[in-house]
Amino acid sequence: MDVIRDRMIAGQSSILGVYNFLEENESLPAGQLAARQRHLLRKQLSYARRESPYFANILRHHTVEDLLNSPERWADLPLMDKSVLLENFDVVRTRNDITYPRVHEYLSDRSLADEPFHGSDLLVVSTAGTSGKSGYFVYDQREQAHIRAQYFRFMRAILAGIEPRGPLRSAAIIVTGAHMIGYKMQQHLPPEFFRMIPVLREGRAVTVEETAAELADFNPQILTCFGSTLRMLTEYKEANPDFAWRPLALINTGATLERDVQKRALAAFEGVRIFDLYGSTDTGYIGWTCEHGSMHLNTDCLKIEILDEDGRPAAEGESGSIVLTSLWHRTLPIIRYRLGDLMSVSTERCACGRSLPVVKELLGRENTLLYRRSDTGVSPVPQGVFMEMFETISGVKRFRLVQESLDKVTVSVVPLPGGEPGLAERVAQRVTPVFGAGASVDVHVVDALVPPASGKLLPVERLFDPAAERTGRR
Ligand SMILES: [Zn+2]
Repeated sequence: MDVIRDRMIAGQSSILGVYNFLEENESLPAGQLAARQRHLLRKQLSYARRESPYFANILRHHTVEDLLNSPERWADLPLMDKSVLLENFDVVRTRNDITYPRVHEYLSDRSLADEPFHGSDLLVVSTAGTSGKSGYFVYDQREQAHIRAQYFRFMRAILAGIEPRGPLRSAAIIVTGAHMIGYKMQQHLPPEFFRMIPVLREGRAVTVEETAAELADFNPQILTCFGSTLRMLTEYKEANPDFAWRPLALINTGATLERDVQKRALAAFEGVRIFDLYGSTDTGYIGWTCEHGSMHLNTDCLKIEILDEDGRPAAEGESGSIVLTSLWHRTLPIIRYRLGDLMSVSTERCACGRSLPVVKELLGRENTLLYRRSDTGVSPVPQGVFMEMFETISGVKRFRLVQESLDKVTVSVVPLPGGEPGLAERVAQRVTPVFGAGASVDVHVVDALVPPASGKLLPVERLFDPAAERTGRR
């Protein structure tokens, strides 16, 4: 019987304690790791039922053992998401001092972003709400230690893949002065080792020249940023070969990195390695690339389900919607939490030897999966179709495709300088057949694509609910 150090995973206030636990898990045999996960899940379910009125109600017809042993019973538990959590905030929470009105009041006042929540040591943050709605999240000291330990696990993999000379400096390009987790978790790190570079200054977007000047000045070996920022810096380096900054590792967050950005960044910044860090304010870190280039999943922090369009477990290796149950969120427990991203999990193990499973494909937001009318109703069109298509349309520098309804698509294209005329027509000719003759495709040729404040500019995005189309509710 494995001696399970559950105190090491929840209720542990030491970052090192959690880190050691996570590191140990990476080398456990599969059976032993599964036993630990199961034990942590048992603890978490018992805690949620005891301390959270919301989960006391949700779990009332089940025993914890039934849920652990019966996939059918487990699948009966309702899914939740960011808006369910927000609507039920006051019954999900397990503490009395974080009532919805207090949290809402604090998060609505941006001038309080540098102030603790009512003098407490709680981390109270919101999400930007790229999909329209923001979410509220609270982490106590122990949970913050957990998030940091997850980050150090990733850092260990990075350090196994690069050879830094001299003291290690890292930087992150993020939205600052806001109630966002990236800013609040990093604002007190030692300035000689870490610098936060804002994407906005006094409400206006920071220029690439300003960002490049900061990078050349601080010279971080490791930089964390969104893919859209990485694209901007890569273009800057291509145009300015004497830009002196020499990164060793680039960490992409927020969205899947477009293939052409990856290729060009590797070429522009000689010797650099690119890593992905996949996480959310809602759930902590979910996945991270190791030194072998595979994205591992933190299955010792989260129970990860991949569900198909009907809410059933997707076949092994198939892609579906990610649903997460946290093994360490105690302040605001989350059980069967639908993140809104699509993923498939590989059946193969990584050559690095870590026991944690590996992502086969991270397809990003569910709203990057588009739909077309078909004989059977509606059929999905993955974003990869457009990524490949636009690589073969000459004269396109960048594009963004938004599907507003089944029959209405808008495309914005930034042309390459000196390109041939008739770009809009050529794009329309290629895109229209994908959606069928009945669809209207509007193409606009623009000077630039402007990212939102969050920095997450999706190249492909859907704005309607396909389920409503399928059942004919709309
Ligand atoms: Zn690996």
